[in-house]
Amino acid sequence: MRVTPTQLLSGMVLIVLVARPAVTVTGACFQHDENFTVLAEDEMLAADVLASANRFRQRVANEWLGVELPPSVGETIIHVTLSDEEDRGLTWAIDSPNRSMHKIWLTTSRDRANGSTLQHEIAHIVLATRYPQRLPAWADEGIAGTYDEQDRINLRRQIIHWYADTGNWPSLESVFQMPTIINTDKKAYSVAASVTEFLLTRGDRPTFVEFAAAGQQAGWDRALQDFYRLESVAALQQAWQAWASGIETSNSELGHIRVEQGNRETDPSPECSIPGVPGRPQQDTRASHGH
Ligand SMILES: [Zn+2]
Repeated sequence: MRVTPTQLLSGMVLIVLVARPAVTVTGACFQHDENFTVLAEDEMLAADVLASANRFRQRVANEWLGVELPPSVGETIIHVTLSDEEDRGLTWAIDSPNRSMHKIWLTTSRDRANGSTLQHEIAHIVLATRYPQRLPAWADEGIAGTYDEQDRINLRRQIIHWYADTGNWPSLESVFQMPTIINTDKKAYSVAASVTEFLLTRGDRPTFVEFAAAGQQAGWDRALQDFYRLESVAALQQAWQAWASGIETSNSELGHIRVEQGNRETDPSPECSIPGVPGRPQQDTRASHGH
């Protein structure tokens, strides 16, 4: 997930109004290197997440940009709250000169904090570091979603299968124009993931990233012509629907629904000392919520 300031503000209200399962934070410990600062409830977790974050940062950059990010660009603070009941992640990328670090909040299990939930958010961070103006929301989520667990992927396929089965296809033009995709909009996530998957059958991952950046700048018809030899969004719509109708039939048995993500920030507790965290944004104590 990625979030805008407006969503953060609305989320602050939601956090107050919506009761959530209790998440106990017994402490906050600190691990740090040139790329990440990790706050977690024990030293081992913080160290593990730090190592996982660096591994994912390298992997995502190599896979989608074709080259690693230099050390320390896109420096990020990661807050981890352990929960066996929730699985939520949120990224707030640098969006003003007053902020020097990206932020990630995770409320999830120990495994997912070192696995799919972390990697989804790291994908947003890598892309936001390379493209500070941000990629279009659908492409950003399409890329990050490739690292999700299979049950989320199955849910999306179930939705696409319904479109194929009923013929009630959504307009790609409207999805491409969405400034953000809110966390409850499963159909938009599904379309983003499916169109991403389709275009990856026609070109490699760095090509997709370049297409997404170009489409935002020059328009989608032009970008489709330049990168995929498709005439227009209308042509993409037709080709995608045909492709999705074919492959989704075989996945009809898949899918079960689960609630997706929001966000909650955790404040460091005094149980572990936290040395001065360089460049921590002032918003650090805000609770927030969003996609
Ligand atoms: Zn996301």
